[in-house]
Amino acid sequence: MAVPPGEVLIITDYDGTIAPIVADPARALPVPEAVELLSALVPLVRGVAVLSGRSEQSLRSFLPVPGAALIGENGIEALTPDEHARLGNFLDRARLAVARWPGVVIEAKPASLSVHFRSQPQIAGELENALAGLIAGSGLMMVANRMVFDVQSRRGSKVRTMCRLMREMKPAAVMYAGDSRDDARVHRCLKTAPIQTLCIGMASSEMPAGLFKNADLILDGPAEMARLLSRLVRHWSGPPRGLHQVPNAVAT
Ligand SMILES: [Mg+2]
Repeated sequence: MAVPPGEVLIITDYDGTIAPIVADPARALPVPEAVELLSALVPLVRGVAVLSGRSEQSLRSFLPVPGAALIGENGIEALTPDEHARLGNFLDRARLAVARWPGVVIEAKPASLSVHFRSQPQIAGELENALAGLIAGSGLMMVANRMVFDVQSRRGSKVRTMCRLMREMKPAAVMYAGDSRDDARVHRCLKTAPIQTLCIGMASSEMPAGLFKNADLILDGPAEMARLLSRLVRHWSGPPRGLHQVPNAVAT
């Protein structure tokens, strides 16, 4: 069944999906074509959303795309005072715990935090154990993404936000692209949705093999994602065609 583009919701992650991973996350620019391509898709489809663990402010600075929903910190709404206190408490203890590893950077965001260890990948296991010890009983959750541990309220997850977007926008089809563990969770959830879905994962040696077993398509990274977006724009700017003809078009 071909779903017209006006009924398709496109959701994409940012880092590792439309922006190459770099040593300093504050300098992770999107691939050059991304802004233009996402802007071109906005009037063609039901909705374009960028859903990321980054702060909303940084998404806005990197992606001036009018009409797109730029959703930072995985879409968590404002924290309750209790959640705020729990996060602050975890931050204080995490800062002390990671002080022994120079190069590990804690990025404190308004409603979450990220512990980056890209400069010291060999400590992944030790760092995860240390943070897991602090998170026990905190009411927070931690997700191991690419060389980063993301810590947030249990209310803030990509799955939850994706479900909210689907309720609000009522698409007949969803395309979701991402490169990390929390994106694979969205794929798993989408596979049970009673609508057409196109789940896209990114190949990476930094994530476990088989992580994207629910993906319809695995791409090499942001440059290939840009090629897919470009084909989507061309595909949907011409005669009416559906979402599931896109993977074949990408392969050509
Ligand atoms: Mg990512």
